[in-house]
Amino acid sequence: MSRTRILRSPAVLALLAATVFARLLAATTPTTGPAVPAAPLPAARRTIAVTVDDLPFVGYGLPLEAVTRLSRDLVAALAARKVKAVAFVNEDKLFVPGEVDERIALLTVWLDAGMELGNHTFGHTGLTRTPLPAMQDAVLKGEVVTRGLLERRGQPLKWFRHPYTHTGTTREIKDAFETFLASRGYTVAPFTIEHEDWVFASADAKLAAAGDAAGQTRLLAAYLDDFDARCSFYEERSRALFGREIPQVLLSHANALNARAMPLLLERLEKRGYTFVTLDEALSDPAWKSPDGYFGKYGPSWLHRFAAARGEDVGKLFAAEPEAPKWVQELDRSRREPTATAAAPIP
Ligand SMILES: [Zn+2]
Repeated sequence: MSRTRILRSPAVLALLAATVFARLLAATTPTTGPAVPAAPLPAARRTIAVTVDDLPFVGYGLPLEAVTRLSRDLVAALAARKVKAVAFVNEDKLFVPGEVDERIALLTVWLDAGMELGNHTFGHTGLTRTPLPAMQDAVLKGEVVTRGLLERRGQPLKWFRHPYTHTGTTREIKDAFETFLASRGYTVAPFTIEHEDWVFASADAKLAAAGDAAGQTRLLAAYLDDFDARCSFYEERSRALFGREIPQVLLSHANALNARAMPLLLERLEKRGYTFVTLDEALSDPAWKSPDGYFGKYGPSWLHRFAAARGEDVGKLFAAEPEAPKWVQELDRSRREPTATAAAPIP
């Protein structure tokens, strides 16, 4: 589910099209080759922590055998670049009859590769629509297997990520839930960069199911260009807020598209001058002590939350974000709602 798209009206989209197109153009300008100078590397070294949500896997109906292979590919892609990601588990996704042991084994692959695991609730319940007691139950029910796996290795269960990064519609709800999380030893995992990878992954699943390999190739190219556009956007937001680029935190998901694309996404980040750090290292930057001023039903980037605390209009910031191309959005929607037509309004 989109964190922000719901705010946008078609009119706003039209107004923004030129801006987004300009960003995409900038992002797709070749950065290699002798005739074209590379995009200047930042004066300050860029750093980024990688997080991956919705473990063990968002398979869109793929059989366990395929999920197992793709999950291992995703972990291997991260490990190949020495990325120590934090990956967030929905334990309800483990309890598929006849596959429980195999799905738990998918989690151990992450730990064996040096990744951390965190809690993402049992059932992927969002705080915006879920009463506090039910959210607390979802946290407790969602930590049983993961905590056991970590403790067997002498590691604490430390990280929590709110589903949809819905952190509370009021200050009271937000504070109450975070007090509960802290009492269970959790640290909230924020993010700065997200790239609607679930929209692209859903569209990719639709193309894969149709056997449209050419379509998947086209989608991958659009995905990578969109990723660069998002990085540019959030880098600019960071400079606007802090006068520099703070350590970024990427939010992605465990899905088939990322199993294939992760080597390329990480390569794009390296070309932008990023080195990979742990989430702990990223959050040790003093900028991350800034107040989160967002209370509402959506789940924005922490850069937007920092801006909200300074009195900026989060709605305007949402509207300025790049978004997935229309044709990708339509593929996603047609997979989720098989009877929908291309002319259907944005939900
Ligand atoms: Zn999630």
